[in-house]
Amino acid sequence: MPRGTASKPLLVAAVSVAVVVALGGSGLLSPWWSQFVDDLGQFGAGLAATLACWLTAARHAGAQRRWRLWMGGAACGWTIGQFIWSWYQLFRDDALPSPSAADAGYLTLPVFALPAIVSLAVARPPGDGPRRRPGQLVMVLDGLIVVGALFVLTWGTTLGSVARAGAATPFAYSVAIAYPVTDLLLTVIVILLVATSAPAARGQLTVLGAGLLCLSFSDSFFAYLVSKGAESMPPLADAGFVAGMALVAVAALTPAHPAAARPAARHGRWAHLMLPYLPVAGTGVLLIVQLVRGISMDGVEIAVETAVISLLIIRQAVTLIENAVLLDRVSDSQARLTYQAFHDALTGLSNRVLFHDRLEHALALHHRDGRPLAVLFCDLDDFKGVNDRFGHHAGDRLLRQVATRLRSAVRDSDTIARVGGDEFAVLLEGGGDPGEPAERIMAAIGRPFDVGGETVNVGVSIGLVEAGEHGAVSSADALLRRADAAMYAGKRQGKGALVRYRVDLPDGTGSSDLAEALAATLRDGHGLDVHYQPIVRLADATVVAVEALARWNHPSLGPVSTDVFIATAEEIGLIRLVDDFVLDRACRDAAAFRGSWASIAVHVNTSAARLGRPEHEATVREAVRRHGLAPHRLLLELTETAPLPDLSAAAGAVRRLGRFGVRFALDDFGTGYNALAQLHALPVDEVKLDRTFTVAGGRSEAICRSIVQICTGMGVTVVAEGVESADQAVAMAAIGCRYGQGHRFGASGPLTEVAPADALDSATAPTDAPSPA
Ligand code: C2E
Ligand code: CA
Ligand code: CA
Repeated sequence: MPRGTASKPLLVAAVSVAVVVALGGSGLLSPWWSQFVDDLGQFGAGLAATLACWLTAARHAGAQRRWRLWMGGAACGWTIGQFIWSWYQLFRDDALPSPSAADAGYLTLPVFALPAIVSLAVARPPGDGPRRRPGQLVMVLDGLIVVGALFVLTWGTTLGSVARAGAATPFAYSVAIAYPVTDLLLTVIVILLVATSAPAARGQLTVLGAGLLCLSFSDSFFAYLVSKGAESMPPLADAGFVAGMALVAVAALTPAHPAAARPAARHGRWAHLMLPYLPVAGTGVLLIVQLVRGISMDGVEIAVETAVISLLIIRQAVTLIENAVLLDRVSDSQARLTYQAFHDALTGLSNRVLFHDRLEHALALHHRDGRPLAVLFCDLDDFKGVNDRFGHHAGDRLLRQVATRLRSAVRDSDTIARVGGDEFAVLLEGGGDPGEPAERIMAAIGRPFDVGGETVNVGVSIGLVEAGEHGAVSSADALLRRADAAMYAGKRQGKGALVRYRVDLPDGTGSSDLAEALAATLRDGHGLDVHYQPIVRLADATVVAVEALARWNHPSLGPVSTDVFIATAEEIGLIRLVDDFVLDRACRDAAAFRGSWASIAVHVNTSAARLGRPEHEATVREAVRRHGLAPHRLLLELTETAPLPDLSAAAGAVRRLGRFGVRFALDDFGTGYNALAQLHALPVDEVKLDRTFTVAGGRSEAICRSIVQICTGMGVTVVAEGVESADQAVAMAAIGCRYGQGHRFGASGPLTEVAPADALDSATAPTDAPSPA
């Protein structure tokens, strides 16, 4: 419905129509004056419509201008026809010839109105693009089919006889049927267009359509009266003409308003599809009835019905073609979507999703019948630099070239995917040594690239993992993580490296397969062991103590480096379990030492972060008591991987355990946090000078000398770590360090290998026997 500025003209139009009809049909005036008012009303309405259309057309452009121009023409023609008609009726006594110039004027209306409403209906709001709305042709065909079928229906029932009766010549006959045909045509097209047009034009179209329907209604009524031989038209029947023209004027004054596009309701689309068949079915029924009643079809009926059926066939063909085109487009876009979902748009390689899927599949085959499978995880080394220096466009070109080289380096059956910005993964399923394609990739990517005339060098770091090595993997993700971990290890080694996965590679998330295995080991204690390394008096190399060192021998991984698994245990928060295991074993073993080792101390490493916790103190006391070890023979080495959270709490613990008899050492002295502050705060008995300082000569020696002086002054014993040569031992002794530990005096090993025979001879050796050495 019109809004805003349109409501005023609508009101004026309604009042005018009411006045004309009331005056003309009231019976207050004489018949001539009634007729005069009636005719004047119609003429005035027509003139108003003509002027409204043409004057407003000047203010518009495009479709809004076009439809007003056409409609103005339609209204003008009709008004002229009306003028001629009125003139004859009011001022001339002789009857208007049929057909007359008035008919020409009247029939201008449908001829011009049709392009007007079509141009209004197909007009798109600005910015909607130049596309043709699909189904427009079908809509026009539907309109024609409906018009034709309705015409056959009305013709066969009433109109035919009416037209035949009133027409003297074939021309007059054509003019007579032109009215109902054009009325019908306009009615149907208006309804169809209002139902299917763009929402923006719907307001104007509705008003204009209503106007045309009013005109058609009065027109048909008029034709009917004429056929019945009526002398004049009752004024009320002319109301349609007046109102129709008034509405045309209102439509021209109504601004087009953009409305939110709203998709046609589903049932609306179905109704639209079925629309042409209903009247056609009706004509079928009509023909059968006529056949049964023995009525034969006349020429008009046969011609129109043939046209309707031809149009129906064309409509079907058009629909079929449109559907086929649509289906093609759908399947094309479906194929495109599928491709896009599984491929990298830039390089055309597989994407992560497809790679993952292929890897899962390959892994399933590997688990079922041992098919070989390896994954390479490749990360370009200096790609960011290329992007920064030459821009993203150049970066993209480089990535495309990398993809081409990757393809040439592996077999066609291998899957290559881009899994990140400059990360690529390759799935090798053909067997053979995966190191070979990996080397080929290194060589291919190592060659210079030409990016827009610039020569660019990038390297690649590759992580390689083979399924079936280092224990089974359950999922594609786990295997990819391993390859990724190996690649990162390569990056840490300094880029451009090919690294095969090992279990002790952290995967960057703080967890690794190693962590899982270690956690399992610590839960059941199997696989952990303790080795001992002697600590000696430098003067005579007498063993005064042994340090207990944790060892882990994994059933399938083999021995794992202590530094690595200790760090892992700390990361996953299970270092306490390692410490307690070693503490218990060390106390047990030391308590059983005999002979020359009967009174030596045992050093046990303790994670410093635990110091000060009540459970730690209790554990230490209990271990000592359980194995009947003299507390002074236990010395706890405080190893530090993070700053001590609470130095005074730690000092309290050292003091309390010290009163119990247990002694303490600061391990790796000089490398930890705040070494001197710790030495000051913690009442330790020993300092273990880290091996970085114990190499002879230069600044190290000066540091060692100072530390020894400080410690001696405090009554703290110094042990030099990492003493590997005789010179080192001599140098350390020369600066006043009395004790040492290192390969020079014996590496760590199982107790049976490290201890002298008498130390373990529990049956013969007397507990307090003096050392034979
Ligand atoms: P640490 O406490 O400083 O232990 C000495 C390390 O130096 C040992 O390595 C030992 O094998 C090595 N070493 C001994 N003499 C020499 C030498 O002459 N030259 C060289 N290059 N190395 C020598 P290991 O057994 O691999 O232990 C590494 C570290 O692991 C230990 O360093 C200690 O910090 C930690 N650790 C070992 N066992 C435990 C434990 O039960 N609990 C805790 N918290 N940490 C432990
Ligand atoms: Ca230690
Ligand atoms: Ca140490």
